[in-house]
Amino acid sequence: MKRYKPLFSGIRDNFLFNEAVIKVDAYDKILYSLFDKCKPHIQNKNLPVDQIITILNKEFSFLKIVFQAEKINNSDDAHLGFNGGGTEDDEYNTIYVFLNSNCESNFNQYNNKYIATTIKIIHHELIHRNQAIRMKSREIISKEFNYDPDNYREYLQQKIEIMPFAFMMVEESRAHGWNDDKILQNLKTFSNPSALFNGYLKYFDEDSKTVKLLVKYMYMYLQK
Ligand SMILES: [Zn+2]
Repeated sequence: MKRYKPLFSGIRDNFLFNEAVIKVDAYDKILYSLFDKCKPHIQNKNLPVDQIITILNKEFSFLKIVFQAEKINNSDDAHLGFNGGGTEDDEYNTIYVFLNSNCESNFNQYNNKYIATTIKIIHHELIHRNQAIRMKSREIISKEFNYDPDNYREYLQQKIEIMPFAFMMVEESRAHGWNDDKILQNLKTFSNPSALFNGYLKYFDEDSKTVKLLVKYMYMYLQK
């Protein structure tokens, strides 16, 4: 893997921009510590989503991670309060996490599993930020990121989506209780507990380019 060259030196500590793929554990620690800081202001306070977002943004904005409230949409995780995420084509590749009112009870409980899910969504976008940083020009970035997200099959087969999804699948498998050896062994037979992974197999054949690339990235994450 190529060595990561930070483009944002001078703006903030380079360490903070050594993104998910490169230093996932180090970055995780930062994200968890920020959620810990927010915890006493949110847990058991029965706050509406707008107030939850204000508290989160106060801590996360220096990382250019922004939480935004929206009406409930039809995304897969909307019932959990997640309308999805996004990475903006701006100077910082600002990351957005779109929350809806279904997040209120979950943040009120503030259990570890819910925070981990939120971090998983941020990770997906961090990988996009990392991809954008590595692309040479803004033209290439907007070309690569320009596809119809409502066409689910097209969305899934985008090269730039396969990388973050592979990461999420590994995390889902680990959360399911599989150790890395077991995930690796079973990749050969396309057997995996991740709902996302099995979702891919509904849209693409096992010997398709898309699934091959997906499996390759999963290997990469597991053997890092
Ligand atoms: Zn994505």
